[in-house]
Amino acid sequence: MAQVCKGFCEDYQAEKTMLRLKYAEGQKRCTLCALFIKYDGDRCPCCRSKLRTKPRNSSKPKKVVYQ
Ligand SMILES: [Zn+2]
Ligand SMILES: [Zn+2]
Repeated sequence: MAQVCKGFCEDYQAEKTMLRLKYAEGQKRCTLCALFIKYDGDRCPCCRSKLRTKPRNSSKPKKVVYQ
């Protein structure tokens, strides 16, 4: 199934904070919708794509996949 932004993410959109604080507050970034949302799950409620929960310097090196 294709992952598309349906606009639901705007309902979950997090308040504007500094980038560093966003992750600290548990806000997650949806790369597809291109915004930060506050949502208790690892997938975007809008487009179902995987959410980014941490800034780049993760302790676990993983292959980065850009969509
Ligand atoms: Zn969206
Ligand atoms: Zn999304």
